[in-house]
Amino acid sequence: MESASLIQSLEKLLGVEAVTSAADELLVYECDGHTIERALPTAVVFPTTAEQIAEVVRLCHRLRVPFLARGAGTGLSGGALPVEGGVLIEMARMNRVLEIDEVNQVAVVEPGLVNLRLSQAVQGMGLYYAPDPSSQAACTLGGNAAENSGGPHTLKYGVTTNHVLGLEMVLPNGETITCGSRAGRGPGYDLTGLLVGSEGTFGIITKIIVRLTRLPEAYKTLAAVFPSIDAASSTVTEIIGAGIIPAALEMIDHFVLRAVEAYLHLGFPAAAGAVLLIELDGIRDGLDELAERIEAICRQNGSLEVRVAKDDAERALLWKARKEAFGALGRVTRSFYTHDGVIPRTKLPEALRRIYAIVEKHGLGIANVFHAGDGNLHPLVLFDDRKPGDQERALKAGEEILRVCVDLGGSLSGEHGIGLEKREWMPWFFTDQDLELMQRVRSVFNPEGLCNPGKVFPTPGRCVETRPFAKAPNVSA
Ligand SMILES: Cc1cc2nc3c(=O)[nH]c(=O)nc-3n(C[C@H](O)[C@H](O)[C@H](O)COP(=O)(O)OP(=O)(O)OC[C@H]3O[C@@H](n4cnc5c(N)ncnc54)[C@H](O)[C@@H]3O)c2cc1C
Repeated sequence: MESASLIQSLEKLLGVEAVTSAADELLVYECDGHTIERALPTAVVFPTTAEQIAEVVRLCHRLRVPFLARGAGTGLSGGALPVEGGVLIEMARMNRVLEIDEVNQVAVVEPGLVNLRLSQAVQGMGLYYAPDPSSQAACTLGGNAAENSGGPHTLKYGVTTNHVLGLEMVLPNGETITCGSRAGRGPGYDLTGLLVGSEGTFGIITKIIVRLTRLPEAYKTLAAVFPSIDAASSTVTEIIGAGIIPAALEMIDHFVLRAVEAYLHLGFPAAAGAVLLIELDGIRDGLDELAERIEAICRQNGSLEVRVAKDDAERALLWKARKEAFGALGRVTRSFYTHDGVIPRTKLPEALRRIYAIVEKHGLGIANVFHAGDGNLHPLVLFDDRKPGDQERALKAGEEILRVCVDLGGSLSGEHGIGLEKREWMPWFFTDQDLELMQRVRSVFNPEGLCNPGKVFPTPGRCVETRPFAKAPNVSA
């Protein structure tokens, strides 16, 4: 179908103010947080109801036009990229909290709701929404459900799938299904579990039922400074080996510290090679003793300083350092490429040594800020997009880093998804039979492949242009 008549049909369905196809406006949607690959949609629509989404999907289905959802576009694996053009369904106008059931600790929300807004909405009731991606000030609950997102506190509280009780979804043929319920798992297959993490390839989520969690009575937040990343890595293994599961156990390396220090002025020693941000939460009794045990482990591993946040303000400042780390890097590097490999926790020191060596071999820089307790690495390969060959070297280094993760018994992604970015490497991790079975599952929901095509699975040949980086987006989250 001609673009012009597709756009006309969309405008007829939603009204002209809910459709954009102007070339300059489409540029906003040419990539997500994975800025290496880019592709433009034919049109972007801004629905306000699930029924409008169903109508758009029915139109696309009838005309055989590809379509996909986009939340905040903070995804780091190219999941929201319209690789075959078509219609991008932008969820920003579906951002309401529909219902809060305080007694049963359940909320029903629209998918465009920003993650942090939900916790803010229920804070007065002593509740919050536990999954907290570092991007939580921007990313949406629909995007979180599609990616099965994690975050610093998933070490204790689990990832998104542990907090989603049910979903409403428009299937790629325009039918609407619901699964799960406020009561959680019912009889039959766990469709909610299947849909969470399906990376937007099974349909468009239009409503989410989530579990709310009671705010802990108390927190204890420690920042332990180490002379080297090696010493910090061994400490992570020892803390967990001692039978202590903190709520969060995050690593920030010296490069990221430098960037964060420049504007937060935390005053960590200049000799700091890495900082572990360790948070305990729960009932007040016993937290001090646990913190003392952790402090002792840190000191045995050569910690230069262990700072314990004395109040909420200091706790918030330490978390700001962690959650705004990606954005802060904009001060010290022109561009970076973020990875998300997972390794068994005990392999942390070895993995990090090998990763530093890879990046050095390619003549590039590296920064590390990651969920150490989960063994979920985020090596950020630093490069300068203005230098010829730099981006290619960054891509090669990234591939070698992920190979190390898989070889050490880990996996390709802890939380950012496979998307477009890692699809060609899926055979490192899965057999042909595994991949075929997964594709058969996808085709039950999405038989024509119109919904978010080109994602998750390796396909012969690449269908998007790979172009030089723009300046790394200064996402502050
Ligand atoms: C600074 C920074 C920090 C980050 N930290 C973390 C972290 O700690 N943990 C973590 O897990 N991730 C993290 N991320 C990655 C990203 O924020 C998450 O993947 C997030 O869930 C994406 O949400 P979004 O709304 O931006 O989704 P988008 O990027 O817009 O979309 C992501 C995918 O979800 C699909 N999708 C979106 N909405 C729907 C819907 N309604 N129905 C069906 N499919 C849909 C899209 O099609 C796409 O495939 C970080 C990203 C940045 C930039």
